[in-house]
Amino acid sequence: MASAPQNPTAAAAAAALRVADLPGRGRGLVAARGVREGEVLLSEPALLLYPSALASLRAYCAACFRALPADSAAAPCASCRAAAFCSPACAAAAHPRLLCTALSHCASAGLAAAAPAEAVQEPLLFLLSAYSLPDPALRAVLSLASAPPPPPGAQDAADLHAAVAALAPPHLLPAGFSPDLTAALLDKDRGNSFAIMEPYRPWTPLELQKARAYAVYPRASLLNHDCLPNACHFDYPDRPGPGNTDIVVRALHDIPEGREVCISYFAANWRYADRQRRLLEDYGFRCECDRCQVESQWKDDDDDNNGDDAMEEEGEEDGADGGDDGMEEEGDADGDDDFPHAYFFVRYLCDSEGCWGMLAPLPPSPNGELSHVFECNVCGKLRKEEDVMPDEGTSGMVH
Ligand SMILES: [Zn+2]
Ligand SMILES: [Zn+2]
Ligand SMILES: [Zn+2]
Ligand SMILES: [Zn+2]
Repeated sequence: MASAPQNPTAAAAAAALRVADLPGRGRGLVAARGVREGEVLLSEPALLLYPSALASLRAYCAACFRALPADSAAAPCASCRAAAFCSPACAAAAHPRLLCTALSHCASAGLAAAAPAEAVQEPLLFLLSAYSLPDPALRAVLSLASAPPPPPGAQDAADLHAAVAALAPPHLLPAGFSPDLTAALLDKDRGNSFAIMEPYRPWTPLELQKARAYAVYPRASLLNHDCLPNACHFDYPDRPGPGNTDIVVRALHDIPEGREVCISYFAANWRYADRQRRLLEDYGFRCECDRCQVESQWKDDDDDNNGDDAMEEEGEEDGADGGDDGMEEEGDADGDDDFPHAYFFVRYLCDSEGCWGMLAPLPPSPNGELSHVFECNVCGKLRKEEDVMPDEGTSGMVH
């Protein structure tokens, strides 16, 4: 994997964060100095990138995961013919060996037969890609934090191990290949992989949007969760040039030195019970952030008997459009007393087309001037600050 370009922004970003042991939270990243809104805190290339499903191989380049050109310009992998590359440069990058070999019997009793369902394909594609890594990179993956044990009904590690053993020629398998190593790798995948999403489609709830690929970023995976995050991550997979699968983390607002930098592991409009369930199942902890402390006091939101809309206790009208995608944008801007974090949602949550992405300011200019333009990390829309905050004295201004 090519390393990120060493531009001044990346150099400054390296100094913005440091690793810290945080009581009760394990390791995390804290601001190594005062950070300004919009600053790039981290820009990191992927240690491991792998396709989300077999279908992804037909739509995205096997090396850079850009959307493949619609015409016949895409070049199939000369070895497996099952994957394709977007350009001669990507074709020159070797297809991960185990993955390529497994795909080459795809047409017969190979990978497709072993993994007909996408839920099985994802961990299998991960394992074939991880076991293709050179030894130092494989050890780097194994050094990441582990996810809690998989929930009942999850794909059995022993079955997946058997599938890898059946698909991969023994001479390509790394030393130490074993059911235990496979189980350990699967724990790392569940706890650390970031999704690189397919191009955004309006009105598709985030949960239903599909990943084109998954990526492991060792440093970014140190970022802990907060339901009122002070940073969010971007990716730009279809951007031209190198580094298109790098993860970029930016500050939502100013962060003082020593403060932990956190992201939200899912759309920030999720209601309390859903957030807690997800964090417990997938990451093994209960969240006690400021927002959760407030919302845990709310009646009627601590069990499953609720309606679909998040924060419906705000007195919003039922039957609003948008189905189950959570908070409605109307009615929260006034700062209801029961909802002290309304400002956060109005300022940092994208309200376009059912998106619910996070809005972060663009980076300050090289001379330190703040941008006042916010970018959504899901739909990519840019918005001027005065349009995000219509009540801040500039209402009525249209672009
Ligand atoms: Zn490519
Ligand atoms: Zn191949
Ligand atoms: Zn929380
Ligand atoms: Zn958006």
